[in-house]
Amino acid sequence: MSRTDSDTLVFHSAVDVFEPWRAALATALPNLDVRRADDVADPASVRYALVWNPPQGFFARFPNLALVINLGAGVDALTARDDLPDAPVTRLSDPLMARMMAGYVLFAVLRHARDIPVFERAQREGRWAYVHPRAAEEIRVGVMGLGELGAAAAKEIARQGFDVRGWSRSPKTIEGVACSAGMAALSAFLGGCEILVVMLPLTPETRGLLSAERLALLPEGAKFVNVSRGPVVDEAALVDALTRRSISDATLDVFETEPLPETSPLWRLDNVLITPHLASIALPTSAATQIAENVRRIRSGQPPLHAVDRRRGY
Ligand code: NDP
Repeated sequence: MSRTDSDTLVFHSAVDVFEPWRAALATALPNLDVRRADDVADPASVRYALVWNPPQGFFARFPNLALVINLGAGVDALTARDDLPDAPVTRLSDPLMARMMAGYVLFAVLRHARDIPVFERAQREGRWAYVHPRAAEEIRVGVMGLGELGAAAAKEIARQGFDVRGWSRSPKTIEGVACSAGMAALSAFLGGCEILVVMLPLTPETRGLLSAERLALLPEGAKFVNVSRGPVVDEAALVDALTRRSISDATLDVFETEPLPETSPLWRLDNVLITPHLASIALPTSAATQIAENVRRIRSGQPPLHAVDRRRGY
């Protein structure tokens, strides 16, 4: 079979609409056959899978897979599976996804920095509650995880004049952001975050990283924003800290269990803003460019870009 004019990409997602992805990929790669899984007539022609949370056993139907493309930036659901084919796994790298995430993070940081939750609570009680605003330069904001999305968000917050610090696994240099790296630097980093923004991938190393002990290192009354994955933080410890107001407010987009169960105490805390895991999404027209580039690379025998290190988990 010629690998250049008759190969197929199979698509699966329960949350993303197929047609915009098909159309964007058709524009970027006119000679690629793009199909939903239930519309694949010849599974042997499938070389690429563009997937978000496919059902267990999904990949076994396609014996010639050469590339698995995660339809998103966070690959934890894929790397945790035991049925992945022996093919490279890539994440989406999409400038518009990074911009959308930076917008959400900026919204959350500004909301906390400008004490908006205080005014929302006061308004519900018909109370005029003046809090003197602080200059952005005085407010210390920490970003945990300085990857594609984390670095973009950190720069966006720095652009607003906040005192931004960032933490990652390996050392980084980002203009306007005081960067530190590694476990030895974590306690000092947390101790300096009046507003903490969690942007770490979920991996064996980061699961439960924000334990009760580490949350207690945040300054009294800190604000907490999680846009990465729920299990990075001990949710029960977070609920406890929010109840005691040692963490005064939180903006949470991700949770240990999603959808967040009705029984979760988080629903009943008036100092928590809950959004249903949508801080950022992959956008077909901009993401298709990267997917097309990787399909071309596989066709010409080159390794794909933005491959995930399966052992590391991101
Ligand atoms: P990247 O994989 O590009 O970067 C991850 C960052 O986390 C890197 O800076 C990395 O360090 C750091 N990191 C990883 N492990 C550790 C560790 N053990 N200790 C310290 N730092 C660590 O991720 P992105 O920035 O693109 O995305 C971050 C996460 O955001 C995704 O994994 C996903 O879970 C989440 N997400 C959430 C969305 C939502 O809608 N809520 C949408 C999209 C993504 P280093 O640079 O040294 O490798």
